[in-house]
Parts: sequence; structure tokens; C-alpha cells
Amino acid sequence: MAIGLYPGSFDPATFGHLDVIKRASKIVDKLYVAVLVNSEKNALFTAEERCELLRKITADIPNVEVLSYSGLTVELARQYNATVMIRGLRAVTDFEYELSIAQTNHAIAPEIDTIFLTTNLKYAYLSSSTVKEVGFYEGDISHFVPEEIIDIVKEKINKKKLGLI
Ligand code: ADP
Repeated sequence: MAIGLYPGSFDPATFGHLDVIKRASKIVDKLYVAVLVNSEKNALFTAEERCELLRKITADIPNVEVLSYSGLTVELARQYNATVMIRGLRAVTDFEYELSIAQTNHAIAPEIDTIFLTTNLKYAYLSSSTVKEVGFYEGDISHFVPEEIIDIVKEKINKKKLGLI
């Protein structure tokens, strides 16, 4: 049984992330989507909120489980017996960063390999920052995040804008 781990910040999840999750869930038997707690300082959503958003949009994919973690991603992979790490590649700019993470992880945990899924062209430009920026100026974010979570994302961005969080 192939177990995969898709780690990231997911602040918030976008159609780009969802596309990677859907495709990865067909490659492995079980896919853990893991929200990194460490980077929370600059995050808009708490790790638990980010998990909830991911759970809402992946509810119909039976072999996907969402969790949060802190510490080394490879340690999490070992804990869950995952041998495949999934990451997405949008553009050349992602490559350098992703390559160094993958090589570092491989140096620490040679039994774990990283598989890169190239972005769906429709979402090549899309990032969590795009969602936050467009949302902040009250632009239409329905092109960026699934319908189930639009209101929650909008509300959070609004709170931030009003200085309530
Ligand atoms: P991180 O902070 O770990 O980069 P992100 O949540 O920004 O976390 O992204 C997690 C992973 O998903 C990364 O490998 C990133 O390249 C990938 N990703 C993000 N947006 C897209 C997209 N639109 N298409 C494909 N992959 C994406």
C-alpha cells in the first residue's frame, strides 16, 4: 500500500491545492494532507482552521485525511509510514525552492521520495497569497477557492482588514 503525504501551509487552500490533492489521491492508496503549524506566525488562518477548510473541500475524497503538524516533515512521514511526499510545481520560480527541500528531505530520510505534480495550467498563477490579496480589496475570489469555503475565507479576510484579528 502506497502512502503519500502532501505537506504545506494551505493558508488558505485553493483550487490549485485541491487539484494536486485530487490527482495525488489517485496515485497513492492513502493521502495525508498535512498543515504545517510552524509557519503560523504570519498565517491568516490558524492551523486548525486551515485543516477545517481542507476537510470541507476534500470531504468527497475517501482516501484523503487532513492533519496538522509541527517539526520535520520527514518525521511526520515516518510516523504515518508515508514513503511518497507530494509537492506541486507551478513555475520555474517554484523549482529551486522545491528542489532544495526535496534534496534535504532525501538526505535525512532516503527511504522517502518526493513526487512533483505540475500545476494544472488553469491554476498556474494561483497561490494562497493571491487569494488574500484579491480578497483584501474585495475582488471576486470564486475563481480561486471552492464554493464551500468562500464565505469563511471572505469573513476572515474582512476581520483582518478591520483589525479584529
Ligand atoms: P508552502 O508554504 O509549503 O509552499 P503552500 O500551501 O503555498 O505551502 O503550497 C503547498 C504545495 O502546493 C507547494 O508544493 C506548492 O508549490 C503547491 N501549490 C501551491 N499552489 C499550487 C497551484 N496553483 N498549482 C500546483 N501546486 C500548487
